[in-house]
Amino acid sequence: MSMTDTRSAAPAPRIALIAHDHKKDTMVELAREYLAFLKTCTLCATGTTGSRLQDQLGLTVQRMLSGPLGGDLQIGAKLAQGEIDLVVFLRDPMTPQPHEPDINALVRACDVHDVPCATNLSTARLVLARLSERR
Ligand code: PGA
Repeated sequence: MSMTDTRSAAPAPRIALIAHDHKKDTMVELAREYLAFLKTCTLCATGTTGSRLQDQLGLTVQRMLSGPLGGDLQIGAKLAQGEIDLVVFLRDPMTPQPHEPDINALVRACDVHDVPCATNLSTARLVLARLSERR
C-alpha cells in the first residue's frame, strides 16, 4: 500500500489448525487449496499438523506442542486471550485414538468467546472462502 492510499489494511487473520491423525492429509489438501490466502495469515498449529504444513507447503506456522502433549490446550489459552480468530479442527469421529486431544474443551472455548470453529472440511472451506474474500 502506498503512503497516499487511504485504505486501511485488514489485520491478518490469526488461524489455529489442528487435525486428528486420519485427517492430516485432508488438512494439507485444504491448506493447499487456500495456500495464497493462508500465506497472508498468522498461523499456529499443534505440533505434527504444523510440521506437515511447514514441510509440505512451506507455510510459516507457530508450532505448539503436539496434541497429545497439550498443544490443543495451548491453542485454547491463546484463544481465551483473544489471540485467535478462527479454529480449524479437523476431527476424525470414526476412529478416536486415545492419544488424540479431546476436541470438546477447545470447541467450548470457541463458543464461550464466539470464535468460529470448523470441525469438518465443508465448514472449513466455507469459512476460509469467506475470509479470503476480504483480503
Ligand atoms: P498433532 O496434534 O498435530 O500434534 O498430531 C493433533 C492430534 O494429536 O490429533
